Amino acid sequence: MNSWAEVAIPPLATRFEVPELSIFDTARGQNSKISKKPKYRMYVCGITPYDATHLGHANTYLAFDLINRYLRASGSEVLFVQNITDIDDPLLERANRDGIDWQDLATSQIDLFRSDMVALHIIPPAHYIGAVEAIPLVVDAITALERAETVYKVDNDYYFKVRSDSAFGSRSHLNDQEMLKIFSERGGDPQRTGKHDPLDALLWLAKRANEPGWESIYGVGRPGWHIECCAIALGYLDIDPDESTSLDIQGGGSDLIFPHHEMSAAQGRAMNGREFAANYVHAGMIGLDGEKMSKSKGNLVFVSQLLKDGIDPMAIRIALMSHHYREDHMWQQSDLVSAQDFLTQLQIALSRMEVAPTDKVIKEILSALANDINTPQALGALQQWISQTNSGGTGGKPGELSRAIDTLLGIAI
Ligand code: ZN
Repeated sequence: MNSWAEVAIPPLATRFEVPELSIFDTARGQNSKISKKPKYRMYVCGITPYDATHLGHANTYLAFDLINRYLRASGSEVLFVQNITDIDDPLLERANRDGIDWQDLATSQIDLFRSDMVALHIIPPAHYIGAVEAIPLVVDAITALERAETVYKVDNDYYFKVRSDSAFGSRSHLNDQEMLKIFSERGGDPQRTGKHDPLDALLWLAKRANEPGWESIYGVGRPGWHIECCAIALGYLDIDPDESTSLDIQGGGSDLIFPHHEMSAAQGRAMNGREFAANYVHAGMIGLDGEKMSKSKGNLVFVSQLLKDGIDPMAIRIALMSHHYREDHMWQQSDLVSAQDFLTQLQIALSRMEVAPTDKVIKEILSALANDINTPQALGALQQWISQTNSGGTGGKPGELSRAIDTLLGIAI
């Protein structure tokens, strides 16, 4: 699958020290220090392409873009991989409902997603991998799980024994009852007869009537969602056998904590014996009018619609950054108005010949981001600098600040 256009990131002047990043890890339930090293491996779960790209998606991909930018600014390489679930039940259901071909629906939504990501200035993944093109990898992953004696068949479908991972449950911290409830709400099949454990995860679904299927040693069928991400992450992230975990960061929205990330992680651990990710990082949910923004509720605000309405994509970035990435919050039109106003003030201040000192504000932005990507604090520091500049402050370098804002916050002026 083609990724989207590369984003140019200006280098940060070397005299600025980039503090170690501290990030909230869902598994530990607290902030975790990301120690400095030459290369990080980050996997962020992508969309199922039937309704791209609402503000909830934008908030998630923005959060990991900020982490990516920060780690790069510290001089490291970030190998970033993302999937796209271009075959799954919701895609087929939507295509059926609308009477269109599922492939046409996927292609149109993937194109839209890519153009939204470009507009929002999101660094593209090095590998952007579709579920369909990953089928050979998924089949190899199932074979590895079979070797580890963690696979069984129900009719012609294959399942993974989640309890074969002794750490199962350690990333999401839910009790069995909570797991069962969420599993059935989010596409799981706990009631299916023949399963060893109601929570066992589908690896390979044999072809059903009027559904697509692909040839494999497991029969004609299609991959389960959790093994798709596990196989793509382990297949494309250039795993270092000397490290104790396969990935540095497994990311996504908080609705993926369970079952998706728990199950991918359990499968990854069963495959190579190592914890799947050193850090499980999750972005909050965006709601509208008091409810979570979701496809099923139909209360989505689409990035493409805002762009069509003439909203500056940088204002969308700023509006989202005015909340902490982990904070669940309601989308407010007033956030967008304030963001547009802030952007205009910033542009005017940066175009002045004389501006308030800039080293201090750049250090403040770095320090805010080091603390679990605290963007409201970073924007607050910038707001203060704008006020100081407007009050006649001098001695700063507007070009350097403009570049640093682009490097660290992805705001291209
Ligand atoms: Zn995933």
